[in-house]
Amino acid sequence: MKKITFTLLLVAAGLGTVAGQEDSVMMEKIYSKSFESGQAYENLRYLTKTIGNRIAGSAKAEEAVNWSKSLMESLPFDQVYLQAVDVPYWHRGATEEAYILPTNEPLQVLALGGSIGTGKAGLTAEVIEVELLSELRQHGDAVRGKIVFVNKPWDESLVETGVAYGLNSSQRSRGPAEAAKLGAVAYLFRSLSSSTTDDFPHTGGTRYVAGIDSIPAIAIAAVSAQKLSAALKKDPKTTVFLKNESAWKGLVHTHNVIAEWKGTEKPDEIITIGGHIDSWDVGEGAHDNGTGVMGTLDAIRTLMELGYKPKRTIRLVFYMNEENGVQGAMKYGEAAKAKSEKIVAAIESDAGGFAPRGFDIKSSATAVSWIQQHWKPLFEQKFWVSRFLQGSPGVDSGVWGAHFPNTVMFNFRPDPHRYFDIHHTAKDVFEAVDRRELQSGVAALASLLYLLDQQVDQITK
Ligand SMILES: [Zn+2]
Repeated sequence: MKKITFTLLLVAAGLGTVAGQEDSVMMEKIYSKSFESGQAYENLRYLTKTIGNRIAGSAKAEEAVNWSKSLMESLPFDQVYLQAVDVPYWHRGATEEAYILPTNEPLQVLALGGSIGTGKAGLTAEVIEVELLSELRQHGDAVRGKIVFVNKPWDESLVETGVAYGLNSSQRSRGPAEAAKLGAVAYLFRSLSSSTTDDFPHTGGTRYVAGIDSIPAIAIAAVSAQKLSAALKKDPKTTVFLKNESAWKGLVHTHNVIAEWKGTEKPDEIITIGGHIDSWDVGEGAHDNGTGVMGTLDAIRTLMELGYKPKRTIRLVFYMNEENGVQGAMKYGEAAKAKSEKIVAAIESDAGGFAPRGFDIKSSATAVSWIQQHWKPLFEQKFWVSRFLQGSPGVDSGVWGAHFPNTVMFNFRPDPHRYFDIHHTAKDVFEAVDRRELQSGVAALASLLYLLDQQVDQITK
């Protein structure tokens, strides 16, 4: 009995080593291929330079959908199709204008996604500055007829820039309604940007509350916010002129883009990988999220180029409308649920194309510790990828994942330091992406896809 157990242990240990070596060899091939002949960077060039930014509902977003579909069709997928979805279309209109009166000193601003416009004439009002919305109530009636200016600086002390972003993002979404409740005429919000030394405003979604007046909601760049704050300190009666012409334009019929590479052994088990194809309407949507879509596509293409045959079905999904509605992810989830699909794992890339650091994993602690023990060393020793922690899924996976509570979800985590300098700004352009960093991310994604395809039952059992 004892002897048999001992022998079995030896066999198990031996097999483990061989499997680990095979995986290591495969990952070396993946990394070499990605650096040598990866196409994510050149595809990203087309998406950003030829198509450009692509807010959901725009003609550019549909152009990106059709181009992505033909790109997928040029690869040996078994099936490529569009999944119809209606999205609310928000249009920025003419470039915003803002300046301090009476000096006419310009302020760099961008309407927040979803904002109504001031009308062509614009509006002029005194300004009430606070750091936190919670301070507004103390001002009571003094808010009426004024522009509420929330000037909370970025928390520089945090390494996790995503956490710093999250700390203040609810002031962006709740602000217009909170200010309007007290009679404010507009909402001016200091940009959620980790760059405090430049003057690029940072857009992003905001929302209104039924039953409370909608007022124009506008982001102001960090340097402009400091300028306005200084002017208000000198003269609290300082007024500001604001003009924006943004508006909702109703529902637009558009699509998610999906491609499937059929599994040879367990085709009914699906591994989803992808990110959102839409972007905000400034810059070129390069890091957010051109790198995510072109990177996940190239991860699959790299495995194809290596002659790999997946055991399970690998499904690539480009979601529409992550930035201002997540209608694409909702549609994907409803359709998958209606078919009772077996989605065993999901990978999402939506945190930029900087050098890969690892993955946040939505699964049991046991599964995460298994991954830390078996997969992390493969990534860490040769490829400088070492973060494998229990955490939240990406936004799109999180939305459709509501229908699939047992799916293990991986959220790709590149280096976070520079992401919020450029995210949602005019600086999010192709030139901000480094080819080697991007292809290193592609290799990390392809490696995880390969490991999941081979061994996902180890973390789902
Ligand atoms: Zn994004």
